[in-house]
Amino acid sequence: MPEDGAGESEEKTLKELLLVRYGEIFLKGLNRPYFIRALVRKIRYALRNQGAQVWVHDGRIFVEGFRDLDTVIERVTRVFGVHSVCPAVEMDKGDFDALCAQAVSMMAEMKGTFKVAARRSDKRYFMDSPAINAEMGGRILAANPDLKVDVHDPEHVMNVEIRDQAYLYVRVIPAVGGMPVGTNGNATLLLSGGIDSPVAGWMVAKRGVQINAVHYHSFPYTSEQARQKVLDLAKKLSYSCCGIKVHIVPFTEIQLQIRDHCPEEYTTLIMRRFMMRIAERIARNTESGALITGESIGQVASQTMEALGTTDAVVSMPVFRPLIGFDKSEIIEIARKIDTYELSSLPYEDCCTIFTPKHPATRPKREKVEQAEAVLDVEGLIATALAGVEIVRV
Ligand code: ATP
Ligand code: MG
Repeated sequence: MPEDGAGESEEKTLKELLLVRYGEIFLKGLNRPYFIRALVRKIRYALRNQGAQVWVHDGRIFVEGFRDLDTVIERVTRVFGVHSVCPAVEMDKGDFDALCAQAVSMMAEMKGTFKVAARRSDKRYFMDSPAINAEMGGRILAANPDLKVDVHDPEHVMNVEIRDQAYLYVRVIPAVGGMPVGTNGNATLLLSGGIDSPVAGWMVAKRGVQINAVHYHSFPYTSEQARQKVLDLAKKLSYSCCGIKVHIVPFTEIQLQIRDHCPEEYTTLIMRRFMMRIAERIARNTESGALITGESIGQVASQTMEALGTTDAVVSMPVFRPLIGFDKSEIIEIARKIDTYELSSLPYEDCCTIFTPKHPATRPKREKVEQAEAVLDVEGLIATALAGVEIVRV
């Protein structure tokens, strides 16, 4: 009966599995099978080494045969595209008394209000949904004096789905939401070791975008620990964003050239223009359709409106800045939720923080920045940096 993967045991009448629910709104119409296939691939990836089978039946995604339910729940709830998961039991639907006995035992410890919510995709089943609700509800009520029925706003819902088999579940565990990674193309994230850029990448990936990362490293001014921190951050992101390719770009020569030949007030801006140019070249080579940064308006001198205009001027690709309207405290709240905050707070230097000018221009004129930059061999420096790129898959 499973469409792919699972082996079945004939005698077993009760089996524990996980029912995975996805956002119905995105999945209407002809794209639905495509989204479901993509989501199943991502769930399988998240559950590799767990001995679990993931299969689709009748528009529902099921996970079964796992060793440890808690681990499976933890991993599946962080896959983008999953809206909730329900630990369920699968039973032979023919024996209604057995279904009721199971429902009674699942509700045995509960107090407060409840209802039974039955759904039949098998319309030939010998009872319709209202009849199942009434009969099963009556038996639960009779067995548990601590429960009362409330059909409008119950604290607990005993869900019963009648398909090829019957599925019973009470717990609905919310998941991360979003869309399956890869269903909305690729984008390239400028990933520093800071708090903002991992959050920015996570937010875009949540919308179904596969992330590539670019990190600029200024060895020996920045340390081996700073490089490792970025790889660790990418690893954290990869739990939800699937595998991430990190491009580590040697940036020291560019920074030294800027420091030695450009007016101090423009050094940060010129450095950021190099970052954007190099990221765009890498993006084109990796079929990315956009760049992503962790910038937020007015956060620092290089993130005023004029400064952002000056950095955008050197690329033609769209630049996504999902944090543009966020306060730092709001960004930190998300960083904690996605568990990148502690790593980001480790005190290793970033290439942005070395050679920082004392008085950076906050309202730069684009022509002035272009003039200041003209003394450099821009194309030559970019070519050398690209030739030294190291790719690490996490
Ligand atoms: P973050 O913004 O990640 O907290 P930050 O605040 O130290 O780090 P900013 O100086 O605000 O970094 O830089 C703005 C953006 O530029 C970052 O969000 C990131 O997208 C990009 N960026 C900065 N430094 C680097 C780097 N070393 N490698 C790649 N991208 C970087
Ligand atoms: Mg920042």
